[in-house]
Amino acid sequence: MRPKSYDVVIIGAGAAGMFCAIEAGYRGLNVLLVDHAPKPGAKIRISGGGKCNFTNRRVEPKHFICANPHFVKSALARYQPDLFIERLERHNIAYEERDNGQLFTLDGAGQIIAMLRTELDWSGVELQLNCHINSVLKQQGAWTIETSIGQLTSTKLVIATGGLSYPKLRASDFGMALAKQFGLAVIPSRPGLVPLTMPARQQAWWSDLAGLSLDVKVTAQQGPTFQGAMLITHQGLSGPSILQVSNYWQSGEPISLNLLPSLTDVLDWLWHLKQNAQSLSGALKPFWPKRFIQAWQVKFDFADDLANYNQARLDQLAKQLTEWQIYPDDTAGYAKAEVSLGGVATSEVSSKTFESNKVPGLYYIGEVLDVTGHLGGYNFQWAWASAHACAQSI
Ligand SMILES: Cc1cc2nc3c(=O)[nH]c(=O)nc-3n(C[C@H](O)[C@H](O)[C@H](O)COP(=O)(O)OP(=O)(O)OC[C@H]3O[C@@H](n4cnc5c(N)ncnc54)[C@H](O)[C@@H]3O)c2cc1C
Repeated sequence: MRPKSYDVVIIGAGAAGMFCAIEAGYRGLNVLLVDHAPKPGAKIRISGGGKCNFTNRRVEPKHFICANPHFVKSALARYQPDLFIERLERHNIAYEERDNGQLFTLDGAGQIIAMLRTELDWSGVELQLNCHINSVLKQQGAWTIETSIGQLTSTKLVIATGGLSYPKLRASDFGMALAKQFGLAVIPSRPGLVPLTMPARQQAWWSDLAGLSLDVKVTAQQGPTFQGAMLITHQGLSGPSILQVSNYWQSGEPISLNLLPSLTDVLDWLWHLKQNAQSLSGALKPFWPKRFIQAWQVKFDFADDLANYNQARLDQLAKQLTEWQIYPDDTAGYAKAEVSLGGVATSEVSSKTFESNKVPGLYYIGEVLDVTGHLGGYNFQWAWASAHACAQSI
């Protein structure tokens, strides 16, 4: 059987692969999009609690982690959130804005997948699901791809196989293995936007409080401070603020918790409470769940009667409230991670075209690259923006 020939073969029908295929198809290219999974966009479907936080009103390079912080600038500037929002509006998809500019669909993530599938049809892209890649070779300037549906050839090859999180959704290290095959550097991967687990000896204390949520500010030894909900789980800590800080946390290091993020001067606040003979538990009531107040006071032996506190003890209390150093022992792993940090080194590809510097005709887009967004729709915006930039140049 003669191999099927295309201008472009795109491996990975997730957010980045579908979007790149659509844009390339509209440019008149003969595009084949393949995926080993039975359905496209599996991560889109479960994203944002089923509502898909598809972008953010304010997207800046500071919202991304990458060995080269300048790498993301060009693609993000050329494909801004408004363009994706306009597309949703053309498809009559209703959405809402939540905290910090995050945009979610109102009627479910399935609508984003349906929109992308419709546009794959409109742009004339051929989609092959359940397609397994056996080998990839470059011969006489063209790509030869051996697959479970036969041999394919193409002039350009785009890798959009994503990161390692959520292995049950068919995540694979294909993109990184192929990079190594062609001599491209890869930054080791680790789970990101992931719950943190506590050492076994402390788990009983946390487990007793599982289900409680507090507003906190949290900082890792390096990286920004994040404010938001922290959820206590049976294994440790989760919730938006913890997922955010997990991207910066390194094994063996502490995270620092401020348990009263809405107060600007906690020591001053404590002095006033002492002078007015108020109880500590009463003062904490507007901020924390009752069970957490009790457990925390017992754990750190802070008695209720603030009138008996001297300056040194008040200092200790203020520090414990605003700079509680916690040593997680691990993350909950790829099974619970929303993204992977690391990936194909951005020094290997052009930030304008996403083509490999070493291997002409080979392109990398989306999460498979060493680019990780904060929580808040930034990872999808990266998928759309990198896919768009690549599609303009292939
Ligand atoms: C639970 C969860 C919730 C999330 N929520 C959000 C959110 O609300 N907002 C946000 O911005 N981000 C969110 N993310 C992150 C976001 O889903 C990813 O960053 C984004 O999907 C990356 O797009 P991608 O196209 O690069 O990779 P993916 O979407 O992962 O797509 C990769 C595709 O490649 C295919 N593939 C992999 N290996 C092979 C292979 N060997 N052969 C053929 N095909 C292969 C996969 O089947 C998949 O279809 C969430 C992630 C998870 C896990």
